[in-house]
Order: sequence, then C-alpha cells, then structure tokens
Amino acid sequence: MIKKEMFDKNFQENMVLNFDVSSLTSIGTGGKCLYFLKIENRKSLLDTVTKLTENSVKFIVIASGTNILFNDGFLNIAVLKLGKEFNYLRFAKAPKIIAGAACNLQRFIVDCARHGYDFSFLAGIPGTVGGAVMGNSGGNDNFLNDSLQEIRYFAVNKNKVEDKTIEIKNASQYRSFHVADLAVLTDIILQGEKEDRELIFKKIRENIKIKKAKQPLNSKNAGCFFKNIKGCHLKTGEMIDKCGLKNFSYGGARISNKHANFLENHSNASSKDLLILSKIIKYFVKSGFNKELEYEVSMIGF
Ligand SMILES: Cc1cc2nc3c(=O)[nH]c(=O)nc-3n(C[C@H](O)[C@H](O)[C@H](O)COP(=O)(O)OP(=O)(O)OC[C@H]3O[C@@H](n4cnc5c(N)ncnc54)[C@H](O)[C@@H]3O)c2cc1C
Repeated sequence: MIKKEMFDKNFQENMVLNFDVSSLTSIGTGGKCLYFLKIENRKSLLDTVTKLTENSVKFIVIASGTNILFNDGFLNIAVLKLGKEFNYLRFAKAPKIIAGAACNLQRFIVDCARHGYDFSFLAGIPGTVGGAVMGNSGGNDNFLNDSLQEIRYFAVNKNKVEDKTIEIKNASQYRSFHVADLAVLTDIILQGEKEDRELIFKKIRENIKIKKAKQPLNSKNAGCFFKNIKGCHLKTGEMIDKCGLKNFSYGGARISNKHANFLENHSNASSKDLLILSKIIKYFVKSGFNKELEYEVSMIGF
C-alpha cells in the first residue's frame, strides 16, 4: 500500500485520498478513486509516476474530463491531473507550434488564429490539447493529429519510467492515438498551416454557431458517446435517431433530443444508468442496422 508520507512534502498537499471523481468530468458521474494528484511540474510528475509504478498502483491521467466515464463505487486507481508547467503555448520558427498537454484547446485555437494558423475545425470542442491528441479530436473530417510532428511523454516499461521525445508520422487513426508505452503525454509539437487571419476567425465563428445548433452544449454530457463506423453511410447519431431513441431515458440518463449520440446526465444519473442506456442503444443499432458500436468515451473502471 502506498502512503501519502512516501511523497515529497510539496505535493503531499496536492494529494487527496478517496477523491470524488464525478467532480472531474463534464458528465458528472462516477465514484471515488484511491488518490487524486494535481501535478504542477515535470520533476513531481517523474517522482509520482515512479512511486506509483514501483508500488504497482494503476493510474490514469485526466485532463478536462470531457470525454471520459468513470464507473460508480470505489476505483482502485490513482488519478493524475497536469497543472501549471504543462499549461503553455509557444510559437517557434514557423510553422512549428509547441503546446503543453494541459493547454486549453480553445485558447490554442484562438492564439493559433492570431498567428495565422488554422485550427478552426476544433472550434467549440471543450478540453485540452493533450486530451484532444489522445482522442485525435476533430470535426468535419479534419483531425488534430494530422498536424502532429513530435510528442514528449513519460513512458512506463515494466518498472522503468522514462522521459521520451518521439517523432510522429501517420497518426490519423479515427478518434484514437496509440503509442505503446505512453503513460503521460506532456508536450505536443505541431506543424501549423497558414491561412488569412480574418478568414480563420470567420470559420471559428461559423463552426461555433453550427455546434451550438447541433449539439447539446449546455447539458451534462461527455461529447459523442460512440464512434462513427468507418464506411457506414449513416453517422452513429443518425442510426440512433432512426431507431426512435432520441429523448429515451433510463434512470437519470437520457439520449439527447438535439443529437442522439450524446448521452446526458439529466437527473442525478449514475454511471450504471449511462452504461445500461448505452447497452440499450447498442442492442437497437445491432438489431436495426447490424452494426456494432464502439465507445468513443474512455470507460474507466468497468
Ligand atoms: C459538449 C461536447 C462537445 C464535444 N464535441 C466534440 C467534437 O466535436 N469533436 C471531438 O473530437 N470531440 C468532442 N468532444 C469530446 C472531447 O471534448 C474531446 O475528446 C476533448 O479533446 C477531450 O479533451 P479532455 O482534455 O477533456 O480529455 P479527457 O476527457 O480528460 O481525457 C480523454 C482521454 O485522454 C486521456 N488523457 C488526457 N490527457 C492525457 C495526458 N496528458 N496523458 C495521457 N492521457 C491523457 C484520458 O486518460 C482519457 O482517456 C466533445 C465533448 C463535449 C462535452
């Protein structure tokens, strides 16, 4: 068992035992984890990951928690969140952009636009640059990871923790990003594409308008719950809608009336309510369209 006293005094203060993870996510459900640690700098991160690894404590990193569902009850994991030193954005010699994993995604888009780089397809998507890379976020068939050049991360191999930088090529997998030994993504190096600034801001405004019209931005949800299916002429939301499931609820969980691929915590839902609702959707889509849906949200502790 790992004890609080084993950690450096500076970050003992930032370590909370038996932490309520529902407060970390946009959907607002889930139980309690073993420890929650906010980590402000690289040295603390190295110490923490090393101690957790040496003591065989499983951990995950959470960013803004906008694409994640934790199970109810007790979760035997530590949850880490990156702080100050990982929240930065720098513009190096064009076209190189360097972001800390904890940099807010909307700040990234707007600052990039000011420098004439077009990431307007990400406008209105909540979260961080790190979270967006881990899920290869995007919209309208554009993906953030198409611009990835390099990443810096903490790798865990058996009991060894290593600070690594690698080049990235062909990271365009739909809504996923896979680096075998990646435990914590810390820095992201991208190549931007230049565009007229006014035009970029116009596209940002238009994309936000479209998002507001199509997605339930004011309810408690985790974005699209399921991935779209490659080669399928219907989007997953359209299939769920065609099954007549919009507005269908189970317990406190409901399928959004605005966008059927968004599951909402509309009335003190538990994660179990959301899980059961997701299984009902899977059943109907399989029966109606003979398609197997895959979760887009990260399902933790199920
Ligand atoms: C209203 C709404 C609308 C949305 N619309 C879109 C959309 O149009 N397109 C789209 O692609 N997504 C959309 N999303 C989903 C979500 O916003 C994105 O996936 C976002 O990029 C997730 O970022 P995050 O910082 O919240 O990551 P989190 O949800 O905190 O984490 C996501 C995953 O990444 C891992 N992770 C995060 N940071 C790190 C790190 N530093 N190191 C290692 N692992 C890490 C987590 O463990 C988790 O598995 C939407 C969500 C909401 C709530």
